[in-house]
Amino acid sequence: MQQICIAIDGYSSTGKSTLAKQLAERLNYIYVDTGAMYRAVTYYALQNDFFDFNGGLIKEDLIKALPEITLSFKSVKKNALPTIHLNGISVEDEIRNMKVSEKVSVVAAIPEVRRKLVEQQQKMGEYKGVVMDGRDIGTVVFPDAELKIFMTASAEVRAKRRFDELIAKGENVTFGEILHNVQERDHIDSTREDSPLIKADDAIEVDNSHMSLEEQYIIVNRLVQEVLVKGSK
Ligand code: C5P
Repeated sequence: MQQICIAIDGYSSTGKSTLAKQLAERLNYIYVDTGAMYRAVTYYALQNDFFDFNGGLIKEDLIKALPEITLSFKSVKKNALPTIHLNGISVEDEIRNMKVSEKVSVVAAIPEVRRKLVEQQQKMGEYKGVVMDGRDIGTVVFPDAELKIFMTASAEVRAKRRFDELIAKGENVTFGEILHNVQERDHIDSTREDSPLIKADDAIEVDNSHMSLEEQYIIVNRLVQEVLVKGSK
């Protein structure tokens, strides 16, 4: 059967990775969480004190250190989904905290960072059979992807989902803090000069504000099947 590339872009906390994982499992495709890659670089920048007293990123230090940063996806246990590794060490839990969320969009706006990560992402999807989620997958990383989904939901719904997730993990956060973070990231991601978050002309928009995970999966899986059938004719 023909293998395709599925690009899932959209705003923060729209459930892109949940959907991408479901599709990758169903199709037996590689799943790539590109947000985890930007988060891991941000975690590295925090660990190495690349932020000044006012919390501003010292860009030159990070750019200089980029050759020292190696990212990979590996399974830590047999049959477990691969997770992000920074210089060989799994940082899957560390990259999801608020400190990283607060800084990641500033790091992701740096063209040198994007160039490095996009190159790696394109290699990972070179042979297709990949589901990749992020902000610029359908526009920059794989502009020729056979299926492009653009996910949206109201900021309040997204913040509530993220808040519930973090509370369940035991993080000490408020709803207001999360809503602010989601809106701020959307703003930085959509207005940056390099590869801003925009819907590709040929992407299909899915607003899941009032959809269950199951409904969303059924809708997108139908789109996948249509592309696969068309491709096999
Ligand atoms: O997907 P996630 O919310 O984990 O992404 C974290 C951040 O990484 C985004 O807010 C965005 O700033 C950046 N990102 C990006 N391009 C991607 C994926 C993520 O700029 N392809």
